[in-house]
Amino acid sequence: MANTTANGDASFNFDKFYNVIDGRLETTSKTRRGVNPSTLEPNPEVPVASRDDVDKAVHAAQRAFESWSQTPIEERRQALLAFAESLAEHTDDFANMLTIEQGKPLNHAKAEVDASVRWLTEQSKLPFPEEVIEDTEAQTVTTTYSPLGVAVAIVPWNFPLMLACGKIAPALLTGNVLILKPSPFTPYCGLKLGELAQRHFPPGVFQALSGDDDLGPMLTEHLGVNKISFTGSSATGKKIMQSCSKTLKRVTLELGGKDPAIICEDVDLATVVPQVTKFVWANSGQLCVAIKRIYVHTSIYRQFLDAFVKVTKSLVVGDGFNGVNLGPIQNEMQYNRVRAFLEDIERNNLKVAAGKENYIGDQKPGPGYFITPTVVDNPPDYSMIVREEPFGPVVPILQWETEDEIIRRANDTVYGLGASVWTKDMDRASRMSKRLKAGSVWINSHMLLHPLAPFGGHKESGLGSEWGAQGLKAYCNTQTFFWAKNNGGVH
Ligand code: NAD
Repeated sequence: MANTTANGDASFNFDKFYNVIDGRLETTSKTRRGVNPSTLEPNPEVPVASRDDVDKAVHAAQRAFESWSQTPIEERRQALLAFAESLAEHTDDFANMLTIEQGKPLNHAKAEVDASVRWLTEQSKLPFPEEVIEDTEAQTVTTTYSPLGVAVAIVPWNFPLMLACGKIAPALLTGNVLILKPSPFTPYCGLKLGELAQRHFPPGVFQALSGDDDLGPMLTEHLGVNKISFTGSSATGKKIMQSCSKTLKRVTLELGGKDPAIICEDVDLATVVPQVTKFVWANSGQLCVAIKRIYVHTSIYRQFLDAFVKVTKSLVVGDGFNGVNLGPIQNEMQYNRVRAFLEDIERNNLKVAAGKENYIGDQKPGPGYFITPTVVDNPPDYSMIVREEPFGPVVPILQWETEDEIIRRANDTVYGLGASVWTKDMDRASRMSKRLKAGSVWINSHMLLHPLAPFGGHKESGLGSEWGAQGLKAYCNTQTFFWAKNNGGVH
């Protein structure tokens, strides 16, 4: 990699990676490397934070909180907006690194950087929440929101940059300080984000720590941490909640999903199939709000399946730098998890409508963790591929007949992240969508997100929500003031 970045900024390069603690770039005695999931070549060394590093970062954060929380909101807002601009100026560098570390196609990586800038910018423009509950001759009652203190953002490997930026803006705008902990599988962009941030925030306001599997628990257990904002699997979310319960830390959990898309019989297949295909295979299925179950009305099932399979078979899988549609699975553990689904499909003789005989492309595009998109034709509702989240390019297509039946089946899951209804009939769409138990419901679309719309899961897909005004409140304590206006405040 070059010593300077694409915009010629020599002091900021993507050759060396550091922890960012108290405004300084720090190395550690122990290091590790991520792996490029397309080539399986090792990526540069990254630090492995120790308990001492965690203590140092938390103490620096506590010191920084004293002044940052008292800094006028307009100053905090301007710092965040300037930070977002800096990120935008380095779009090509971050996108390049994202494709190297995460594997996604370069144009998708650029789209992730754009979304990161948008999530930073739009949320930073929000007014600080304050509510007047009553303002009468007798009293004024207002509720204000005060920052919690030291927040920790724990993010997964599928959208390492955008999910981090979604947490940075609300945390810092509301006067909290933040430590970012990227996934050990994708630490690179997160560390550079921390480094870039030092140009815009005082020391200790935004820090970044890379580590191994011990780092997350060290942060969730730490007495000096007040809030954990976690995005990742439901299994880890439960462990985090358990760990946070010991100190009653505030938690926001954005967890797994098994989103259903319900396709009614009146849709225009030529329009709908390419869209559904996009929402299934985006990021090779490694997306919390990807469509993970497709339910098609029985009267159009065969035509839908044929058209879906045709588009799916035309998709090119390979190294994200080679103009492909789908990159690899991000890491070996996840690759083996997706393989376990494929083995279950084979063991149970489920009908495979797209995917190779051994389910791995016969023209394997390289040594990486590549999997050919696989479509399972009408498996039973109890099968693993219908019930569990593969988080990879394998999807079941199923048939339905009546509205009551499909709503029951769509909701018959521990997850409740997203769901969609596809129909030309808006009354029907309204009726059906309101019965779906999910945090985001789309009509004739899926996966669309908005930085000002609260995002969160029902059931085991999460706890609380982030983004938008509600996202700001998730980083705050509420404080209600009662101003009595007569008889000296005695009632
Ligand atoms: P994961 O739960 O394995 O890891 C996520 C993060 O948690 C990583 O940074 C990891 O190092 C850390 N971690 C792991 N164990 C920990 C512990 N005990 N204490 C503290 N931190 C710990 O998830 P993943 O495999 O990286 O991501 C895939 C999952 O994330 C999928 O289930 C997907 O649906 C979900 N996801 C959800 C959303 C959402 O917004 N709801 C978005 C993206 C991904």
